[in-house]
Amino acid sequence: MSQEREKRLEQLEREKHMIEKALLLRRLKGSVVWEKVSCGKHCCKKCGGINRVHGPYPYLHFYDASCEWKVRKRYLGKSFDLTLLTCPKTELEERLQQIQAEEREILRTTKRKGVKL
Ligand SMILES: [Zn+2]
Repeated sequence: MSQEREKRLEQLEREKHMIEKALLLRRLKGSVVWEKVSCGKHCCKKCGGINRVHGPYPYLHFYDASCEWKVRKRYLGKSFDLTLLTCPKTELEERLQQIQAEEREILRTTKRKGVKL
């Protein structure tokens, strides 16, 4: 497979994972909170392991029904697209189908040309 196609497949795979993660997180019905954190490393010149100066980074705060409705949080990741949490769910499902169609097409045309994967 050409490098270009491999790259495209990786890109699609990443986007798919992010959308699937977003679909799961949306069920938690939480809200996004930006938090500064410490990295916990005592040798860190920026925070010394205790001061919350890194970031801010996005976390999803949500109530955990299975844990006496305690507030819990989940790290979303620096590159997480926050609009995925608020856009209409049908848009995400459509995008997933587009991605899967494009992946199939790449794999199909690669096979037809007899190129090794
Ligand atoms: Zn630090």
